[in-house]
Amino acid sequence: MSGFTLFRRGERPICLGARIGCRQSNDTGLIFCRNTRANPTGYVYRGEDVWGFGLWQSTEDAVAFSGQVKQERERRQQEFLIHQQRRKQQQIAQ
Ligand SMILES: [Zn+2]
Repeated sequence: MSGFTLFRRGERPICLGARIGCRQSNDTGLIFCRNTRANPTGYVYRGEDVWGFGLWQSTEDAVAFSGQVKQERERRQQEFLIHQQRRKQQQIAQ
């Protein structure tokens, strides 16, 4: 399968080697592991794919993602405030 890195024995972070075929997507960094009931530290369960692999995301990635969303929201809020201020100033000038 292209676009995936297969974990070798001893490198499987979710099932710790209990299952085989664990792989990581090179695009998203998501880890696919057949052990959907694992409770690994540092990873959150994101669902199951069509082949019955559990999808796992590292909490670092999850935090980074929510951080991006938060930043984007703050940026929009800032733009809105600037826009509002400008409108007020224009009203005063008229
Ligand atoms: Zn695994």
